[in-house]
Amino acid sequence: MNNLNQHYQQFCVMCGEQKENGIYIHSGFICDQCESEIVKTEVTDEKYNYIVQRLKKLWLKNA
Ligand SMILES: [Zn+2]
Repeated sequence: MNNLNQHYQQFCVMCGEQKENGIYIHSGFICDQCESEIVKTEVTDEKYNYIVQRLKKLWLKNA
């Protein structure tokens, strides 16, 4: 299973940029940068709403 070590350029669902490093949520990809954005975003932050909306779309799409 060494092919997991290959680096793929993936389109981040948050910023839409092609990144090598990040995490997979369902079949979507979120780059490191956006992931840390999400982690540090307060629930009361307006931006959090935006992020949740983006993620919801992704989750619904793959439900
Ligand atoms: Zn991103």
